[in-house]
Amino acid sequence: MKSYAYGFPRLGKRREFKKSIEDFWEGKIDEKQLVSLLNAVEEERICFYKEYVDVFPLGEFTYYDNIFDTALIFGIYNFSNFGTYFNHARGKRALELRKYFNTNYHYLVPAIEKNPEFKLSWNKPLSYFKTFFSFKDNPVFLIGPYTFLRLSRLNGNFDKTFEKLCVAYKKLLSELKNNHVHNIHLEEPAFCLDVTKKDVKSIVNNYKEMIPGGLDINLVTYYESVDFLSYLYELPVSGIGLDFIAGRDNIAILKKNGFPKDKKLICGIVDGKAPLRSNIEEKVKFLELIKRVSKLNEDNISVSNSSPLFHLPVTLDNEENLSSNVKSKLSFAKERLYEIRLITQFYEGQTKEARSWSNKATGESVSNTVKKDFDTLTLPPKAFVNRKKLHQKILNLPLFPTTTIGSFPQDKELRKVRFDFIKGEVSLHDYDNFIRDRIASFIEKQEEIGLDILTHGEFERTDMVEFFAQKLTGFVTTQNGWVISYGTRAYRPPIIYDKIKREKSLTLKETFYAQSIAPKPVKGILTGPITILAWSYNLRSNPLCVISFELAQAICEEAKKLAQNEIKIIQIDEPAIREFAPLKKRKKDFYFSWAVRSFNIASRVLPEVQIHTHLCYSEFSEIINWIKKMNFDVITIEAAREGARIPDSFKGIKFNRAIGPGVWDIHSKYPADSKAIRNVLDKSIKIFGPKNVWINPDCGLKTRKWEEVENSLKLIVKIAKIYRNKFKNLVV
Ligand code: GLN
Ligand code: ZN
Repeated sequence: MKSYAYGFPRLGKRREFKKSIEDFWEGKIDEKQLVSLLNAVEEERICFYKEYVDVFPLGEFTYYDNIFDTALIFGIYNFSNFGTYFNHARGKRALELRKYFNTNYHYLVPAIEKNPEFKLSWNKPLSYFKTFFSFKDNPVFLIGPYTFLRLSRLNGNFDKTFEKLCVAYKKLLSELKNNHVHNIHLEEPAFCLDVTKKDVKSIVNNYKEMIPGGLDINLVTYYESVDFLSYLYELPVSGIGLDFIAGRDNIAILKKNGFPKDKKLICGIVDGKAPLRSNIEEKVKFLELIKRVSKLNEDNISVSNSSPLFHLPVTLDNEENLSSNVKSKLSFAKERLYEIRLITQFYEGQTKEARSWSNKATGESVSNTVKKDFDTLTLPPKAFVNRKKLHQKILNLPLFPTTTIGSFPQDKELRKVRFDFIKGEVSLHDYDNFIRDRIASFIEKQEEIGLDILTHGEFERTDMVEFFAQKLTGFVTTQNGWVISYGTRAYRPPIIYDKIKREKSLTLKETFYAQSIAPKPVKGILTGPITILAWSYNLRSNPLCVISFELAQAICEEAKKLAQNEIKIIQIDEPAIREFAPLKKRKKDFYFSWAVRSFNIASRVLPEVQIHTHLCYSEFSEIINWIKKMNFDVITIEAAREGARIPDSFKGIKFNRAIGPGVWDIHSKYPADSKAIRNVLDKSIKIFGPKNVWINPDCGLKTRKWEEVENSLKLIVKIAKIYRNKFKNLVV
């Protein structure tokens, strides 16, 4: 039995990846130095693999993102040097970023024009093969054509473009073959989505054409099960990789269809996405089950990770501060490789090391049965009408009220004071005072600008999830558990390890202070339960909905305290609610029923309080009926990008709440623009009516500079006044 691993993080033990690339961006090192530094990171990565597993792919490394690199391989963008490379990734006209399936990794979305010409412009796998020639027996890494195309923004017919793309892949594969590269690791996670019959047919036909004879291809899927698995049996590939963690149904699918004797099965049984330590003995039992249902002998089976390992931090070795109780339940990427080795060793009868490793683990999650249909606790439509009247009486807002999404710029000074506070060099008292000064100064600024609803600015929060995790019971946070979110940007997911409780206040101090000095209403800003859950790791074996309800309860307690103390508006941010949804349609309803219920628990305060939510994006055509079940009075969404096509998801549906379409794309580096603001407003007024439209930026302003923010907000307020005037004959 062989061991096979892929997707090991590229960040480096000490985030060398991030440092080298950012140094290059700042001009501190040149291209040559960058290449040599990153080759060293890659060598370290290969060493990790080499120490523990038999097979791993070559050329997974990327300087930014592998979907983007695939676009460069096929000449969709030109890549002449690192200047152009990083320009596409983060320059003025950078490619759009989107979440990679239901993970927190963002990839760059290639835009493919009508009738594209795909040409083989960069044989990336071949160049890695040559650079790391001493590992030439390993397969070279490629993203498969179906996944690449499903993740791209396509301006033409899918089928035809797919056919063309496969012709280009054929060229690439032939060139590899001509250069003595015979083994390929081909990733097709999109096979785990809902794939139509038509697509299955087209995949089978094109794949048969695309693969030249004499190649050994391992077709690797992950993040879910492959519903059309038996069709893959016809393809000229030598191995198929399946995810048995997120794709639990793969077992039943194997049972039904068996597995071809002439192919290898790469069994993803060690979790690539979440860090709960494996119980080796149970894994071996599971492997036996796979063997039984697939009727394969062990020569045709490899043990592998369930999905790429880059969703985990590099190693636990750097975590000196974690309690041994928690640490002994964890495995990061390096430890996953170790587990893969332990499983193969156990299989061969060496059980001692494996036993001592897993003894510390709690074992696999045995999910308790949960109710399949939750009452979402949605208020009846009429309640929102009554609430609207009540809120108007209390808040007395003008038409087109103006506000922000919460955070205001965090500058170097703030980050330094916070860092010194964490190190213990600044006292809690001084830190609190520093934050209070910031709040006071920004309340004044908002007041001067003339915004209607103010926020305290979120200066005390590094990250909207980590901040809450550090205050709630049941979480631990790591020192070095970094994972890449996009490009060189990394974050540290907090870890849920015990029952979640709110034992102390989360946001009261700052919010109350802000309200005490503000002449206008200050909106309390809370992160919602689903977003906290989605952006954390979880070590507990309870069903996710149970943990989510605990979080919702904790947030609700905070909301109640805010409400009891004069806070009249509370915003609950849920930017992760869509992305956290399961990939398969058949599983979505159950998820949304508990996700919506969680929001409705969190927001259950006195009806006098106006509830806002911010979802960050706005493409929710498919889930609009679920969004409508959330008990909010005002929703703020993204709308400024791409000519305000956004509120279209609401067309034709009955929506009796208010909406704050973002009139300024704060991710774009440009200031707000009056034409764009008016465009968003005009469209929104048409859809929602003038009495239901708020005006605000797209998202939080944390990463912007104050100079940019000030003028943009002034413009927003100015235009709000013009619109009020225009509609002044309407009775509010
Ligand atoms: N309230 C948060 C902020 O303003 C929302 C951030 C988000 O949606 N990602 O920063
Ligand atoms: Zn946002």
